[in-house]
Amino acid sequence: MKIVVIGGAGYIGSHVARELLDRGHQVTVFDNLSTGTRENLFSDEEFIHGDILTTDSLRQAFSQGFEALIHLAASKAAGESMIKPEKYSVNNITGTLNILNAASEAGIGNIVFSSSAAVYGEPQYLPIDEDHPTVPENYYGFTKLQIEGFLRWYEKLKGIRSASLRYFNAAGYDAAGRITGLEHNSANLLPVIMEVAMGWRNNLQIFGDDYDTEDGTGVRDYIHVSDLARAHAAALEYITEKKQSLTVNLGSESGLSVLQILETTRKISGKKVPVEVVGRRPGDPGKLVASSAKAKELLGWKATESDVDSLVSTSWNAYGKAIRL
Ligand code: UDP
Repeated sequence: MKIVVIGGAGYIGSHVARELLDRGHQVTVFDNLSTGTRENLFSDEEFIHGDILTTDSLRQAFSQGFEALIHLAASKAAGESMIKPEKYSVNNITGTLNILNAASEAGIGNIVFSSSAAVYGEPQYLPIDEDHPTVPENYYGFTKLQIEGFLRWYEKLKGIRSASLRYFNAAGYDAAGRITGLEHNSANLLPVIMEVAMGWRNNLQIFGDDYDTEDGTGVRDYIHVSDLARAHAAALEYITEKKQSLTVNLGSESGLSVLQILETTRKISGKKVPVEVVGRRPGDPGKLVASSAKAKELLGWKATESDVDSLVSTSWNAYGKAIRL
């Protein structure tokens, strides 16, 4: 299939592009390189340096004719979205509407969209399935939920089918070491902990150790980015073959605490990884774990690389190879 991957030079996008290329698809990456990097581009794909906020650059790119589009271009820091909602309105909402309009004009009928578990907000029960109420706690999650709504309308009005993939916590790197571009200024736990282990940061701040969890630190469902990448390919096959849209959770169905990740990092890296316990981060729930039963049933997909050792060791390998930019 001829596929355009918007945000394909980024952390998750590059893994998705690699997976699609490995499956024999023809891939074009469209990216403004604001957080993505040229290092994440592959010789067997085409690259367009364009911006989703510039409708002309989207139109021009889409005039090549694509059967499907994967949309991963967004701002993603939940905390920042509460301080700078304008940035999230523009990049996430306006950017997506530009993509939808250009796609409908160009006749692209299949979209796989990076949604988020942030659409659910504070968990009312665990594990979280797709029927869980969607009451986002932060503006980032709200933008993702709104986009899911736009996608439903564009299906009704324009016949564009879509898969909304509600990621839990993406982590890890390609086990074969083919992705070498690191994230910059990420506020997520794994990149931060890796930067401390590398000696690039002084310590890991643990955001609260008084949660109602086994060791008091926050528990999340970490999903390996290569597991996520396989799910994108499976979701695309589903919507094109079954001719039906889809909304699914993508998680490992198991929870890991901050301390479990920390101890595994210390073990695998052999580094001390100094920590400082600070207060809770506003809006952070104590525990989030996914039910991925629906993805298993509809896509035949489940996480296979998301154990804590794989998450940490593949990350450590990627960071070990990196030249800090
Ligand atoms: N966390 C932390 N220190 C950090 C970053 C994250 O203690 O520097 C904790 C955070 O409170 C949460 C977990 O690690 O319990 C995952 O946070 P992250 O920001 O990676 O993802 P989120 O679940 O907030 O989307």
